Amino acid sequence: MTALAKRQEKKRNYTPRIPAIECPHCKSRAIVRDSTEVFFMVRELRLSCTNDDCRHTYVAQLSVIRTIRPSDCPNPDVRLPFGNPNLGPKPKPANDDGPPPPANDDHGIGAALAAAFMTT
Ligand SMILES: [Zn+2]
Repeated sequence: MTALAKRQEKKRNYTPRIPAIECPHCKSRAIVRDSTEVFFMVRELRLSCTNDDCRHTYVAQLSVIRTIRPSDCPNPDVRLPFGNPNLGPKPKPANDDGPPPPANDDHGIGAALAAAFMTT
């Protein structure tokens, strides 16, 4: 069996997963009840919490944000950044404030004082 045939066989057995966001109140699983297109590449999803004690119904947004693998039939109107979040720079830790400012960085105070006291 060729690699392509294996991929196609895998696709046939693939059961699509329904995207869901857990209930923001009780953290239970939620089910997408309906969706509407807001505009090109953005949909609003109406979700219902599956917890009978909660029953929260809410709206979430689903949008296309970047390409991981380029399309074999690209639409010229679609311009998406290309990137895999598992590649490239990692996010900085929350306690990494970056390097301290240079010792000569007066935040423009020096220039403001020079302008205020400059005589013509
Ligand atoms: Zn809930």
